[in-house]
Amino acid sequence: MFEISLHPVKDDVRQRAHLDNDAYLRLYRQSIEQPDAFWGEQARQLLDWSKPWDQVHSSDLSQGQAEWFKGGQLNVAHNCIDRHLAERGEQIAIIWEGDNPSESAHITYNKLHSHVSRLANVLKQRGVKKGDRVCIYMPMIPEAAYAMLACTRIGAVHSVVFGGFSPDALRDRILDADCRTVITADEGVRGGKYVPLKANVDKALQSCPAVSTVVVVERTQGEVAWVEGRDLWYHEALREVSGDCPAEPMDAEDPLFILYTSGSTGKPKGVLHSTGGYLLGAAMTHKYVFDYHEGDIYWCTADVGWVTGHSYIVYGPLANGATTLMFEGVPNYPDASRFWRVIDKHQVNIFYTAPTALRALMREGEDPVKQTDRSSLRLLGSVGEPINPEAWEWYYHVVGECRCPIVDTWWQTETGSILITPLPGATDLKPGSATRPFFGVQPVLLDDQGLEIDGPGAGVLAIKASWPSQIRSVYGDHQRMIDTYFKPYPGYYFTGDGARRDEDGYYWITGRVDDVINVSGHRIGTAEVESALVLHDAIAEAAVVGYPHDIKGQGIYAFVTPVIGAQLNDALKAELLALVSKEIGSFAKPELIQWAPGLPKTRSGKIMRRILRKIACNELDNMGDTSTLADPSVVDGLIDKRLNR
Ligand code: ATP
Ligand code: MG
Repeated sequence: MFEISLHPVKDDVRQRAHLDNDAYLRLYRQSIEQPDAFWGEQARQLLDWSKPWDQVHSSDLSQGQAEWFKGGQLNVAHNCIDRHLAERGEQIAIIWEGDNPSESAHITYNKLHSHVSRLANVLKQRGVKKGDRVCIYMPMIPEAAYAMLACTRIGAVHSVVFGGFSPDALRDRILDADCRTVITADEGVRGGKYVPLKANVDKALQSCPAVSTVVVVERTQGEVAWVEGRDLWYHEALREVSGDCPAEPMDAEDPLFILYTSGSTGKPKGVLHSTGGYLLGAAMTHKYVFDYHEGDIYWCTADVGWVTGHSYIVYGPLANGATTLMFEGVPNYPDASRFWRVIDKHQVNIFYTAPTALRALMREGEDPVKQTDRSSLRLLGSVGEPINPEAWEWYYHVVGECRCPIVDTWWQTETGSILITPLPGATDLKPGSATRPFFGVQPVLLDDQGLEIDGPGAGVLAIKASWPSQIRSVYGDHQRMIDTYFKPYPGYYFTGDGARRDEDGYYWITGRVDDVINVSGHRIGTAEVESALVLHDAIAEAAVVGYPHDIKGQGIYAFVTPVIGAQLNDALKAELLALVSKEIGSFAKPELIQWAPGLPKTRSGKIMRRILRKIACNELDNMGDTSTLADPSVVDGLIDKRLNR
């Protein structure tokens, strides 16, 4: 196994933090033993309710059923904006950093209120009502957040579709959710390139006759086609309406938004979240996981098109009255220092990003980081994939200069908020482990028979009891939610991920369950082999999958991306095999190693292993849904050079 060094909580971190380890253990126990008292208290403390609930919660996971704060009423926009105005109207709510480093903007809570209220009135004027679905297809500009909040203000259900998706993917999602309104921009700007958003919408809408309104934000003033009566400019429409729009009281269980999962394992599902439980989950985790304190500058680099952007750029931070940074660009534009320069420019204290970005930046070496100061940083976070210990240590030493704890947060679109995570003042860190459950979360590991494993061990990660921000439905196909998440192990929420629990009760996510490879009876998590491969200096990234093997049952097929300039030869392959033997054991050595200039990834940057599995198994006739791939051409290159024919 890896040499994992323990990073105990430092004194200064603990002193500043909301919670130390004793507090964590006490509150965690209360959250499990008296969940209603615990969550009732949290919901009263963290959110504003216009009507109190009748019952904190009732659930039956065997039916996939959960209700939280039934009978209670609240409005999300009120909680994220209005209630802050008296005290912090002139505080910055959103710092916007443009793709071009010379562009940025600061939006106060007062200004946020005005934009959101006006846009909400525009939507109302166009006939959008409570419960109607609104598609948001936007670049990373403040208007994306305004659009989300405007929907919540009037009780419309938003469906944000990532601005990198193609017209076809957009069309499918508009149709699936039966959206009649689309909010977009003329063009997006990323890494110096223009993305024709409005033109993509026009193409998508050729097959969506029900859409009657398209609100267009002017971002680049690029040329756009116009459909009279359907299309309206955001800036013009806002001028015509009043800035007064009362926030609609919503039932806690009213739907809040639909969000399609990123699609790394199959056809995207429209995950439906509800109002009260979701907002509580987002606000509470934002406060405790990131140890948010008044005045902190907080930056999550995700796109609002993903759940991380929903919960940790928009809803969690704004519910807590925080200053949240929204970044339009990409990590390597104009150069590989960009993230760190933005941190210096805006004096960011809390920084939350994904392993895929860190691995790409690691490839560039330490210089781009070292050119910057980063002394404002206090806390680092990771999400989206298992972070390999090597990347963790780089993040910790090079980026955070051993000063900043790293919170490796495990969660999913379906969970709404973070479920397994360190708390900075409470949890001693082990690189590569998401550590311990958040309040109210009861993770279990299940064996092949579906029985709970006690103590240290490995199995399927499932959750034993409902939590407030859990998925309520798959839009338009409630049965699919039950079949996908609640049928496989009756009485549990099935995560689809595998995990290991160590002697300290820490969780280590080993990858998707479908990705566990069984070599001669050894169950090997893809994440562990990949972590070993990328320890080599010549290797930037690796993805491993299983394929049928006559003798071993399954063999390991590794797709390996070298760093720029690496010598690709048999000697390097031998070194990689030796590394895996040393780190894990010779049973985990890949049979086949294919050099991969790039790996197939979802638009959110996750490796799509199901495609690699098809290539490794030489099953090329049915590659499945590839509409969410960032760059489909990568696949053809890998097929050409595949090793198992
Ligand atoms: P789909 O469900 O459509 O296949 P997806 O699972 O990639 O897409 P998300 O909900 O964005 O969509 O991602 C959740 C998944 O990401 C988790 O199930 C897990 O596999 C992985 N993940 C997220 N955070 C972590 C983490 N900190 N450590 C390990 N894995 C993580
Ligand atoms: Mg998933």
